[in-house]
Amino acid sequence: MANNLNSLPLTTLKGIGEEMAKAFKELGIETIYDLLWNFPYRYEDYRMRDLTEVENGERITVFGEVLTEPTVSYYGRKKSKLSFRLSANGQVLKIDFFNQPYLKNKVELNSEVTISGKWDRNRAQITASKFHAGLKAQEENFEGVYRLKGNLRNKTILKYTKQAFELYGNQIEEVIPEEFLQKYKLISRVDAVKRLHFPKSEMELKQARRRMVYEEFLLFQMKMQFFRKIERERSGGVSIDYDVKELRGYIDSLPFPLTNAQKRVVNEISGDMKSHFHMNRLLQGDVGSGKTVVASIAMFAAATSGFQSALMVPTEILAEQHADSLFELLEPFGITVGLLTSSVKGKKRRELLAMLEAGELDVLIGTHALIQDDVVFKRLGLVITDEQHRFGVNQRRFLREKGEYPDVLFMTATPIPRTLAITAFGEMDVSIIDELPAGRKEIETFWVKHEMLDRVISFMEKEIEQGRQVYVICPLIEESEKLDVQNAVDFYNILLGKWKGKYTPGLMHGRLLPTEKEELMREFNDGKIDCLVSTTVVEVGVNVPNATMMVIYDADRFGLSQLHQLRGRVGRGSHQSYCILIADPKTEVGKERMTIMTETNDGFALSERDLELRGPGDFFGKKQSGIPEFKVADMVHDYRVLELARQDAAKLIFEEDFMNEPRYKQLRNLLESLGVFSEEKLD
Ligand code: ADP
Ligand code: MG
Repeated sequence: MANNLNSLPLTTLKGIGEEMAKAFKELGIETIYDLLWNFPYRYEDYRMRDLTEVENGERITVFGEVLTEPTVSYYGRKKSKLSFRLSANGQVLKIDFFNQPYLKNKVELNSEVTISGKWDRNRAQITASKFHAGLKAQEENFEGVYRLKGNLRNKTILKYTKQAFELYGNQIEEVIPEEFLQKYKLISRVDAVKRLHFPKSEMELKQARRRMVYEEFLLFQMKMQFFRKIERERSGGVSIDYDVKELRGYIDSLPFPLTNAQKRVVNEISGDMKSHFHMNRLLQGDVGSGKTVVASIAMFAAATSGFQSALMVPTEILAEQHADSLFELLEPFGITVGLLTSSVKGKKRRELLAMLEAGELDVLIGTHALIQDDVVFKRLGLVITDEQHRFGVNQRRFLREKGEYPDVLFMTATPIPRTLAITAFGEMDVSIIDELPAGRKEIETFWVKHEMLDRVISFMEKEIEQGRQVYVICPLIEESEKLDVQNAVDFYNILLGKWKGKYTPGLMHGRLLPTEKEELMREFNDGKIDCLVSTTVVEVGVNVPNATMMVIYDADRFGLSQLHQLRGRVGRGSHQSYCILIADPKTEVGKERMTIMTETNDGFALSERDLELRGPGDFFGKKQSGIPEFKVADMVHDYRVLELARQDAAKLIFEEDFMNEPRYKQLRNLLESLGVFSEEKLD
């Protein structure tokens, strides 16, 4: 960002005084740099096109001969219409200019003129906005349209941007290293700035955009990779020197072969563990993709080299389920597994903590209870959190600080689109399980209207008749906890009335005590309840393989990712499973969501669609998103470039002598001026 441009005030331009400078300031433009980097958000297209190519209502520019004297008619206060006929493109067109009566002196009979405006095909008429005597030059085909505020006009911005570029354009320094300019055939920085403001063709614009998108992403990723390097190389990261042979023995003992995706992420994780770099890794995998097994492998590895592991999950039910399955997997190898939740109390708790401190416990699974002060590990080497979105940053850090800076693995089934993952979690490494174990049956998803409720209930009965179980989920209505419960209560009552003891429904909602919820969940798990009607408290991680049907009431109130999470509660056993969405969405987006759900079971595909429908700001919720604003780049549409920029930045930061190489001087200076090297750290 040629530093000097950033310190040159706008008033250095001819014609900009204090007053005008103030107006620009409203737009956040205070320096020459700001002005040059204030790119149009769209372009008026003044290209001449054949009339037959132009759709009704589109903008068109035509060149032709004035056939009639222009006439002006006035109406209302200060309103006028100037009309004449024009011969262009072998047609006679009616041209109307509103509120530009002064054009009457410029439009000469039989002269040739260029006119731009909106094309009304049916009336062969143009509602014109631009007039140019003679043939308008080619290079003015596109005109940038800028954000405006107050009295500033587009024309004014264009004018001063042009002046600024003419005076100072030659001071715009290249910052992208030559090797990448060549590799991607990118145009220079100064050309890109020029073309973004004054493009001569679509091709020029495209090249300019491509260059700027890459630049923005590279700068951003340099920052992320720089933080990542600091994180990784922070002193005291543990090297977990596990026994490869033993680990292989464990993997071979599993009742199934790992999927290729599981193998890949196991390699990524074990590589991190072995190195004395500090692991800070996000493990993403759709529900049922086999993350728990991967976690067990990592914990096994830690145990073979004498380190303890902790697994922290958001609910007691989930903690118990994980404890059960990990116990089964790990105990045969002599690895001790403990469970700590707030229900573990008194003597039992004291004994457990004593074992932990003495190093007699290899693996501890639990909820928030794990981060209490009196939970002391002897040698904590690995911390895993499941569904990390549920834990605040502080809780995560707290657990990390319990060991000598242990390796950290965050597991999540929320399929964060890769685009977002590498930005929002840019300082983490990301491992993805993008493959389900073989032999899984696709969950069949249907979308029905509310009027079909009776048929849905018959369908539920059919499943129950075959020994299966059903979930019914009613949405949480944030403003009204009462309403939220009411939905579930109503549904439950309908079932009670219909079934009259033939089948057993259960009712679960957020106002029950934790112990009551646990009890209900246990009864459902044990098959004592046929149909669990619930608010979204059931969402996270529960595993009841006999449940084969997920009915979601008012499904249009949920986001795609959440619907997918809910759907993931079924399809966990060998039986065919179903998901029924009951919804009468009012909006197009709502309808589209329902349709998408019926079309795909792929969580990543869904999350990409969700991102498109909602935009990145909404995806995580505004506050925590930490997603930067780019001027030209668009994370969703340019994600391929984002990925390339990430790789390039990583290469520069980790493989090259970036801080000393003369050829990176410009880029270094720019990053320095952005404060990248001085900032403490990301969290
Ligand atoms: P996640 O935690 O990602 O939702 P889990 O680890 O709970 O998934 O795995 C879901 C189910 O799939 C479990 O019953 C597990 O035993 C099984 N599973 C995991 N990996 C495989 C595999 N490679 N082949 C077959 N089944 C697997
Ligand atoms: Mg899981």
